[in-house]
Amino acid sequence: MNNKLYGHLIFELSQPGRRGYSLPKNRFGNYTVPRELCREEDARLPECDEMTVVRHYTNLSGNNFGVDNGFYPLGSCTMKYNPKIDEEMAALPQFASLHPLQPAETVKGAEAVCTLLCRSLCALTGLHAFTLKPFAGAHGELTGLMVIRKYHESRGDSARRLVIVPDSAHGTNPASAAVCGLDIIEVKSLADGTVDVEALKDLLAQHGAEVAAMMMTNPNTLGLFERQIPEIEQLVHAAGGLMYYDGANLNPMLGAARPGDMGFDVMHINLHKTFSTPHGGGGPGAGPVGVRKGLEPFFPGVSPYHGNFAVAIRAYAYILSLGREHIKEVGPLATLNANYIKESLKDVYELPIDGLCKHEFVFDGLKDKSTGVTTMDVAKRLLDYGYHAPTIYFPLLFHESLMIEPTENESKETIDGFISIMRRIAEEAKSDPELVKSAPHTTPIGRVDDVLAAKHPVTTYKQMVNDAD
Ligand SMILES: *Cc1c(COP(=O)(O)O)cnc(C)c1O
Repeated sequence: MNNKLYGHLIFELSQPGRRGYSLPKNRFGNYTVPRELCREEDARLPECDEMTVVRHYTNLSGNNFGVDNGFYPLGSCTMKYNPKIDEEMAALPQFASLHPLQPAETVKGAEAVCTLLCRSLCALTGLHAFTLKPFAGAHGELTGLMVIRKYHESRGDSARRLVIVPDSAHGTNPASAAVCGLDIIEVKSLADGTVDVEALKDLLAQHGAEVAAMMMTNPNTLGLFERQIPEIEQLVHAAGGLMYYDGANLNPMLGAARPGDMGFDVMHINLHKTFSTPHGGGGPGAGPVGVRKGLEPFFPGVSPYHGNFAVAIRAYAYILSLGREHIKEVGPLATLNANYIKESLKDVYELPIDGLCKHEFVFDGLKDKSTGVTTMDVAKRLLDYGYHAPTIYFPLLFHESLMIEPTENESKETIDGFISIMRRIAEEAKSDPELVKSAPHTTPIGRVDDVLAAKHPVTTYKQMVNDAD
């Protein structure tokens, strides 16, 4: 990486008059562009030769970290197995070159993918109908809550404006309820990390007639299975509310248990989490919403066309390539991998809630707090060893959350490698805490000042090119 091109912007590599292309001779004559459409001065585009451009972008791409570079144990966001065959299917020109306004009779194949995917999602979740329109998990939550609101309104029950959300919920749950114009009440968790059913009973006794829905994630954001679902479902339904399932954590349930069988009425699935699609940097995603029989007339029109179709193709390819039998292995393997890491590290990292987890779990920083080494420091030091950091400082239930999700597809050697590096960092925290606190040391950019970056972000590049050029 100590190439002299490295570390520059393409603009800084520009040389006046340098060209990296040659166009064929103009065979079409000249057109005069109307003056009012012309720039007053030339655009300051970089002028570079071909190899400079190729090397510049190839070197830059080497700074990316993705699932194809190394282990990526990012909890909650589930950056998981993205089989290459799914990418191939999404890139088939027969799909990729479709236009959303093509006549319906020319897109029968694409329609079949959507129909068959919905049918598979129904089979996997135990719900009756799905819409593929929402573009992300949060968009699915909003769509699902709109279904619930319409359902209550259709019965003349417009007093139901409250959504119960556990304090362990992902931040999008209360946010979606608020965007839907509903009010949120929080239900506390017990010390074991699951919903406090007694507290829920109190809430329902007070507000039962106003409750539109309860939103739950199962396993919850701590990776814990909510064992009280049958009782919770009965309580909420008896009060007249509906049950909403946040399906972002569907992975460990695949083929093992179905939200529909647990009494949930409405749910979303994050296709980009559970059914492949690389989604770093905020996209793309898809958050199909499923409903119990009788609720499908309340689907709102939340987006034109069929949502993010290419994500749907990948999801369908993922489901087909595993098939009915092998999809059942996803959950148990993800669960095994998470528990193996948890048990191998809990003597050196603080495990606030012990016991069996599902596909992910949360440490509360290093066990030995005397070193002053924080979760942030551990995460940064992992970068030096070539690992992507786990999710940090989420969930908000602990001060030093370090949320680890290995996914189902990693080999034992990979997982053992991660465990040994996590143990080495715990050792370093004792023997040389400064080394960990000042990490990363081997990445192109060292430790950034988060506060400065948040308060004074520099989001534009100042043109260095001399005006006289
Ligand atoms: C990721 C996630 C969401 C939000 O999904 P997006 O696709 O990022 O909008 C909601 N709930 C949980 C539990 C999640 O992990």
